[in-house]
Amino acid sequence: MAARTTTSGSGHEDEQMAAMRRLQVLSLHLLDPSSSSRSEGEGKEGLALAACAGKRRHASGGADAAAALAACLRGRHRDTQARVFEFFRARPDLQTPVELSTAAHRELCFRQLCALVREAGVRPLSLMASDPAEYFAVMEAAGGVDISLGVKLGVQYSLWGGSVINLGTKKHRDKFFDGIDKLDYPGCFAMTELHHGSNVQALQTTATFDPVTDEFIINTPNDGAIKWWIGNAALHGKFATVFARLILPLQGKGGEPADMGIHAFIVPIRDLETNAVLPGIEINDCGHKIGLNGVDNGALRFHSVRIPRDNLLNRFGDVSRDGKYTSSLPTINKRFAATLGELVGGRVGIAYSSVGVLKVSVTIAVRYALLRHQFGPPKQPEISVLDYQSHQHKLMPMLASSYAFHFATLSLVDKYSEMKKTNDEDVIADVHVLSSGLKAYITSYTAKSISVCRESCGGHGYAAVNRFGALRNDHDIFQTFEGDNTVLLQQVAGDLLKQYQEKFKGGTLSVTWNYLRDSMGTYLSQPNPVTARWEGEDHLRDPNFQLDAFRYRTSRLLQSVAARLQKHNKTLGGFGAWNRCLNHLLTLAESHIESVILAKFIEAVKRCPDEKTRELLKLVCDLYALDRIWKDIGTYRNVDYVAPNKAKAIHKLADYLSYQVRLVAQELVDAFDLPDLIIRAPIGMQSEAYAQYTQFVGF
Ligand SMILES: Cc1cc2nc3c(=O)[nH]c(=O)nc-3n(C[C@H](O)[C@H](O)[C@H](O)COP(=O)(O)OP(=O)(O)OC[C@H]3O[C@@H](n4cnc5c(N)ncnc54)[C@H](O)[C@@H]3O)c2cc1C
Repeated sequence: MAARTTTSGSGHEDEQMAAMRRLQVLSLHLLDPSSSSRSEGEGKEGLALAACAGKRRHASGGADAAAALAACLRGRHRDTQARVFEFFRARPDLQTPVELSTAAHRELCFRQLCALVREAGVRPLSLMASDPAEYFAVMEAAGGVDISLGVKLGVQYSLWGGSVINLGTKKHRDKFFDGIDKLDYPGCFAMTELHHGSNVQALQTTATFDPVTDEFIINTPNDGAIKWWIGNAALHGKFATVFARLILPLQGKGGEPADMGIHAFIVPIRDLETNAVLPGIEINDCGHKIGLNGVDNGALRFHSVRIPRDNLLNRFGDVSRDGKYTSSLPTINKRFAATLGELVGGRVGIAYSSVGVLKVSVTIAVRYALLRHQFGPPKQPEISVLDYQSHQHKLMPMLASSYAFHFATLSLVDKYSEMKKTNDEDVIADVHVLSSGLKAYITSYTAKSISVCRESCGGHGYAAVNRFGALRNDHDIFQTFEGDNTVLLQQVAGDLLKQYQEKFKGGTLSVTWNYLRDSMGTYLSQPNPVTARWEGEDHLRDPNFQLDAFRYRTSRLLQSVAARLQKHNKTLGGFGAWNRCLNHLLTLAESHIESVILAKFIEAVKRCPDEKTRELLKLVCDLYALDRIWKDIGTYRNVDYVAPNKAKAIHKLADYLSYQVRLVAQELVDAFDLPDLIIRAPIGMQSEAYAQYTQFVGF
């Protein structure tokens, strides 16, 4: 039911006038951080300025600014993405309609993937092997067409294909690479079981070697070990990489079976010709989900299914014909870490694609906020809702975050490519932790932001055609699959603590962590009482101050949690102490990731060759930094890193920068360069948004 905001009668008019006066006072804050002391007359002028801010933007050459910004944002593979967009634009039969049954969505999603590979000629696995950055660009573009398509592609190539390439050896690549690449061998990645998801080391499916027949026997020992949620399993998968405990009969103590830990095996699950499920395998459909219904998730049970010994993906551990186990890695834990470590590509793809979803949501919300006019000063035109301070507060830091995440994930993708090329141990360690941290941080942020975007579009944000429902539901699970976010952040915290201990042992720190070496000495001492009071705009907008603030917080959190863990360890043991400090550890991990994101943004601003564009990016970067500092101001105040006057100045400046960013908000979203096919929401169109919306409902 719509709430009535327009009323008639003089009493209501008085109320409206009073409301307008309140808005005028509020609008003063839009213009200048020091405006709170202005007179009422000055306030009127301020509101008028705010109301025509959009016009001012166009007069200053908005399209040129957007084009220059877009050039600065372009990843190396924007052209590849444009080709994907063009392919789908020309094929209305492959575009996802607003309403679709689960069955129809799954069928369409598979057709979309087949067409991308077989008709558009995209070869995702070859791209992943030759240039991972291009592969991730394709994945993000596919996710723009339909998030289900991006995930289906990810299951086939990052997970099924990635496991064969990265955990197998030449014989597996020779046999499977082309079939996977051309989609002749659609496959699954069967890790999760009904009873265990995050705790992969506790999986119970077994793969027992039979030396008589030279085979492994894949078995589901109990219902808790049924493979669950497996993408591509319900309908289309012909093979699965199954994660199971490798058991060698008679080789344990006293002739018992030896459990060699979790390994990966290629298991055919359906007939290549008929698609019939193979003997000994039961497959059931996980059913309708709250999102991502283009992906067919299934549950698998194995009844002593025999596969050749060669189907063990044997890069990190092998079994010889006579049943002897060999590995270059000495322990089960090391082999497990190496196996999971090879799967980080999926996480990189999820982080990157999540930024794509955030950009779409923010674009729709910002364009609509500029278009939507509600209320205004007496006898003057209504103003755009983006001219309300509250709206800027909701959307502008989010827009700034989209930029920050854009640069952070591009840099993660580059680092991942470097890791694949060099196999350098420091880079490997860096990518592992960064991919976990960025995936967790960005997907959580995006999930929350989509709801804010929906709300900021009022009732029209609730129409399915305007996308927020699908974006929110399809993206939501990004927080859980490819590693639950809370679990991933603990890996980041664990690594920071390891580095901290290394530091005190005189060891070296990996590249991204270098700042800790410089900062520890400084930050273990008390904050400087003089700089704690500095409140000038130049100082607050100095990247050195901003980075210092982020890093100071991380260093303090690291130092204090290390001390707490040590204390609790004595009484609670390692596991209990970790749990006692868990929230502290999660805050530490987020704090570190925020400082990495800011550092990448600052680098990107410095790199930007065009001066005007650089200034614009700097503005957005300053908003990202100061908004984050303000949101955590309690922490900074607690340790006197900022004095009360400085805290107030940060708050005012963050609001002012939100206003400044609002003035260029349209250019900032246009610079994402997302075609209408990807935005799709009528209210988010660059032009004629209302007309497109009324047309959609039949006028
Ligand atoms: C749509 C979809 C598609 C999927 N596709 C696949 C696929 O193709 N292949 C595959 O193998 N799997 C797949 N999965 C499974 C997915 O990877 C798991 O759901 C995920 O790893 C989390 O495991 P879980 O569900 O068992 O959660 P749990 O680990 O049981 O977590 C439940 C809750 O407990 C919390 N928790 C768990 N451990 C800790 C801890 N140590 N500290 C603090 N909190 C903790 C978590 O934060 C979470 O809130 C898919 C899942 C879905 C829903």
